[in-house]
Order: sequence, then C-alpha cells, then structure tokens
Amino acid sequence: MPIPALLSDFVSLLFPRVCLACEEPLARGEEHICTNCRAQLPYTDYHKLPPAENPLARRFWGKLPVKHTLSYLRFLRHGRVQHLLHQLKYQGQQEVGRVLGHWYGQELAEAGFTSEFDLIVPVPLHPRKLAQRGYNQADSFAEGLATGLGLPWQATALQRTTHTSSQTRKNRLQRWQNVSTVFAVADANVVLGQRVLIVDDVLTTGATLEACANVLLAAGAAEVSVATIATADRH
Ligand SMILES: [Zn+2]
Repeated sequence: MPIPALLSDFVSLLFPRVCLACEEPLARGEEHICTNCRAQLPYTDYHKLPPAENPLARRFWGKLPVKHTLSYLRFLRHGRVQHLLHQLKYQGQQEVGRVLGHWYGQELAEAGFTSEFDLIVPVPLHPRKLAQRGYNQADSFAEGLATGLGLPWQATALQRTTHTSSQTRKNRLQRWQNVSTVFAVADANVVLGQRVLIVDDVLTTGATLEACANVLLAAGAAEVSVATIATADRH
C-alpha cells in the first residue's frame, strides 16, 4: 500500500469521516455523502416533467409568473434529507449544500437548463441571523448549483431588511405580509434583464421565495425561477 493511502487510513482511524446523511463511515474515495445514500435519496425528478405537470409549480399559480419551480429532494421527517438539512443549517456543514448543489446542477445541465438562467441568487438571511450562524445555508447550495450549471451566482444581490417575527402563530396571509416587506434588491443593475434562479434550502409554502421573486421582477429581472434542496408537503 502506498504511504499516502496508508497515512489517510491511519487518519481515518483517528478521525473517522462519516456520511453527512447516515453517519456511517465513508469508504475511501467517497466524499461527504456515501454511495448508498446517494443511490437512495428521495429525488423528486420534477425537472423531467413538463412544467404544467410539475406539482410544485402550483404553489405560485395565480400569484406571480415563476418559469421553473425546481426542488432536488423530498423532505421526509426523520430521514436522510432531514438529517442533511440539519447538518447544513445547524452543524456548520456547508459541504451539504455544495455537494447537493453540484450534483443537482450537473443533472439540470444535462437536462438543458443551463440556457434557462443567467444568474443564481440565494435567499438572504437577516444580518442578525447571519452573525449568529456565521453563514447563510442557501449560499453553499447556490455555489454548488452555479458550479454544476456553469453559471454565475451573486450572494448579495438580495438583501433582507427587517427582522422577521416568529411565523408559527400567523395564518397564510399574515405570513406573506410578514415576509413580503423584508427583501430588497441591492443593485438593480445586477438583475436588470436577467433570468434569475432564486435558491433556498427548503420550499414549504413558497411565501419567502414569492417575496424575493416579487422584488426581483419589480427591479427589472426578465424572469424568475426557483430551486430548493428539498420540498416539504404543505400543511
Ligand atoms: Zn450515507
């Protein structure tokens, strides 16, 4: 066995590298997510459907024009996807966003989506939350997607201006009003005439993405589409 491989085995023995989805040790050659998990993740494959048959597109019908509504995985409680999102959001594992974004971006590129967008923009965190967490969990996904699709991404195109109060006790209209006022386009020249792909970690009601899409269209974006790591069923 060559020395570097021996050394890497020794390091793995001391600091076992585990899969970010299932916590099982990674085999040599596996990075971040094991082959077994990659084969078994609950992919939506909605990008393979005609837009009219994509069930996620309905969340924006009658509200505003969203060209493509894309989500990589189905969010299932207590499963691998919940674990991955937890690692990304609360354990500092930004590799989750980068890896899943890269894989999804490559799949979308193979399906012809590269020519559908000009710019990838993550949903921003409020500066206070950003200071607490140290990173925006949507950034790494945007970065991964940009690499996979071969497109530019811009972390600061959108800004969040007001702290959002707790969403849990509000009805749908109140939730929409609560988020609709808090986004702003930082520099209209960056988005003017651009077909923007807005990205976030999870799609639930779509209210946050809708609010971002509204300000982008108002600032002169030619088109908006959305992509998330996972989609949760509506409650
Ligand atoms: Zn795994």
